[in-house]
Amino acid sequence: MMTGEQYVDSIKNINMEIYMFGEKVESSATNPILRPSLNSVKATYDLAQQPEYEDLMTATSHLTGKKINRFTHIHQSTDDLIKKVKMQRLCGNKTASCFQRCVGMDAFNALWSTTYECDEKHGTKYHERFKDYMLKVQEGDWTVDGAMTDPKGDRGKSPSQQSDPDLYLHVVERRPDGIVVRGAKAHQTGITNSHEVIVMPTIAMREEDKDYAVSFAVPMDSKGLYMIIGRQSCDTRKLEGSTMDVGNCEYGGMEALVIFDNVFVPNDRIFLDGECDFAGMLVERFAGYHRQSYGGCKVGVGDVLIGAAALAADMNGAQKASHVKDKLIEMTHLNETLYSCGIACSCEGKKTSSGNYLINLLLANVCKQNITRFPYEITRLAEDIAGGLMVTAPSEKDFRHPKLGPVIEKYLKGVDSVSTEDRLRVLRLIENLTLGTAAVGYRTESMHGAGSPQAQRIMIARQGNIEAKKALAKNIAKIK
Ligand code: SF4
Ligand code: FE
Repeated sequence: MMTGEQYVDSIKNINMEIYMFGEKVESSATNPILRPSLNSVKATYDLAQQPEYEDLMTATSHLTGKKINRFTHIHQSTDDLIKKVKMQRLCGNKTASCFQRCVGMDAFNALWSTTYECDEKHGTKYHERFKDYMLKVQEGDWTVDGAMTDPKGDRGKSPSQQSDPDLYLHVVERRPDGIVVRGAKAHQTGITNSHEVIVMPTIAMREEDKDYAVSFAVPMDSKGLYMIIGRQSCDTRKLEGSTMDVGNCEYGGMEALVIFDNVFVPNDRIFLDGECDFAGMLVERFAGYHRQSYGGCKVGVGDVLIGAAALAADMNGAQKASHVKDKLIEMTHLNETLYSCGIACSCEGKKTSSGNYLINLLLANVCKQNITRFPYEITRLAEDIAGGLMVTAPSEKDFRHPKLGPVIEKYLKGVDSVSTEDRLRVLRLIENLTLGTAAVGYRTESMHGAGSPQAQRIMIARQGNIEAKKALAKNIAKIK
């Protein structure tokens, strides 16, 4: 396993084509806006080195018998699925942001079983290839981005019906040694902090969309691959040199639009090509794993937000007010309900024919459906407790100013035992989590990440088995 420092060096050594604010960025390791997002992924390496987290952060490879980072593991039991969720809660606790490495882990596990079942039906050789790829991932302790979401253009049209054929990523050329692909993937979490990217289709495909039913892996310095970084609210505060105003200056997340401009993929890195009947399975399983993931990561960040709200109340001297106590209880109840969903879909997981474990898809979708709601309520309650100062507090520069500083110190003071600076630091953290850069990962990503709410409702409808429930009702009501 790599140490955090070795990981950072390994990313620095990849010559990626990254753009932000119309300019080329050298590396996420050296850019002040992107560096916190690299630090979050680095935490997944650092934590794996610490003996107290060994049980959650590492696993034994079923391929080599070696100790590996759990983020590169193929789940071998329901216990592995549960530990995955607990690991994500831990990482959320430590970073208070999106630590990005889960998308690759979820892609590994979705591809593991899908390639196996595709080979069984079509006589293809994808699973052995993918196994070889996983050996490289585990040996190199790589971070791999999982790229699913195509731009999609006109949502009323299928991939091949779009007036611009590139709105879904597709194969444009087939050669004896591989394929050439063109298109883009949107909202790519952690892409600048990854060694490689695994591309998957974004929806179930029909025969006419064959060229769009493609999955493969390429390194991040592949020719024709480049990224345009998405802005996050308050992102340029990271350029101001103030730790206070950023709220969480060490960690963050990142998303980018990734362009595949005629990228070549050699044969040994293709895991699906034209078997459109397996595109839907790959989407459903990847989404299922990632919906389980949210029952860990968002809960971990939620813990930090609840803690920050409680601190803000303490610092105001409001901690004994019954409504404050009740709001903290409500936030905890909502957060632990999300965790319960993450654990439940893991406990109810089942072995696939390929040998790895898949979560219970119905419960994973229920988990994510709740995630589209509860963090919003937790956020609302945190803002309620924090008070308006969370968005009206002066800057750190004012706080350090010889004339203004003492005035701010005097008038924005809470209880005697707490400094004004500490009070402002907590409020900025709440601002960061609810409105700032971390709000991308905690709020809006709770809505749209791993699929927007309607995507889960479709899966809940499919998995809910209403017919069986009708039969139960008929039986009790004595209806023949
Ligand atoms: Fe992991 Fe959560 Fe970020 Fe997805 S949103 S990559 S599950 S931390
Ligand atoms: Fe996500």
